[in-house]
Amino acid sequence: MKNLKRYNKFSDFLKQRFGEKVYRITVDGGFTCPNRDGKKGKTPCLYCDERGSGARHIDITLDLQNQYLKGRKILKEKLKINKFIPYFQSFTNTYADFQTCVKRYEAVLNLPDAVGIAIGTRPDCVEDKLLDYLGDLSREKLVILDLGIQSTTDRVLEIIKRGHTVKDTIKFLKKAEKYPDLHIVAHLIFGLPTETRKEMLNSHKLFLDYKLDGVKFHQLNILKNTGMEKLYLSGELKPIELDFYVNLVTDFLERIPFRIVIHRLSARADNHSTLIAPEWGKFHHKPSTLIEKELIKRDSYQGKLVDKIK
Ligand code: SF4
Repeated sequence: MKNLKRYNKFSDFLKQRFGEKVYRITVDGGFTCPNRDGKKGKTPCLYCDERGSGARHIDITLDLQNQYLKGRKILKEKLKINKFIPYFQSFTNTYADFQTCVKRYEAVLNLPDAVGIAIGTRPDCVEDKLLDYLGDLSREKLVILDLGIQSTTDRVLEIIKRGHTVKDTIKFLKKAEKYPDLHIVAHLIFGLPTETRKEMLNSHKLFLDYKLDGVKFHQLNILKNTGMEKLYLSGELKPIELDFYVNLVTDFLERIPFRIVIHRLSARADNHSTLIAPEWGKFHHKPSTLIEKELIKRDSYQGKLVDKIK
């Protein structure tokens, strides 16, 4: 089993599709979200900081084109990368009227070396007309929809003030079945308040039952000036432990089909963010390496248990 690919890495998926390495370039489209502008409340999700889970290194004084071009120049010079995916990451990037969304996407779609687009959003914020547009676009370009599902336990979604339910997620995934080329990536966070290991692991069922193409695993990083900081300081929230996380993600990988692209095994806190805990949240490679080692130790791979648990 020495040469076996133990999981379906995003970098391999991109190399296979484009013939070379492709990097994302994070851009800020100036969106907000329904948890901040009052539509669903004014309390942000408890883990979210003032940049709306976005990258802090972006120079938001630049317009979209120049944010992309600046990132492209750096990556071309430093890493000799030649193909890129502009990534709308901060806040909810489908939360504006149809024309505004399309205008912002089209500002970067055809810039030099842009081979696709990635859009971060949530299951209750993609209107049908926009989904149609993205579905059509995905026939020509790679369109990645980064969907903040976070948990499949309503009690937990309520505690973290997410503002959507599991039913909203399922409703969206059912609609998305009409667009086979759209690449839909589930974002999941492990370590949310009150969520049990069994509940976290249970989220794997989404990948067996619905239109999902990828996953990004995150441990809960507790950041300064967030609701999670308060829960942590009051002793109500314990940071997730590395061993627990490594075992959980490995178990999860064994339960989802190999066709699901693994975009990320853990979430390194942004260099500029104010991580409080867990301490290992600042490392990118440490959790990933341990998960890879755990797969080897078990002599296992992504999807190993799919047929057994169906
Ligand atoms: S995580 Fe997303 S939806 Fe929640 S408050 Fe932050 S930007 Fe809004």
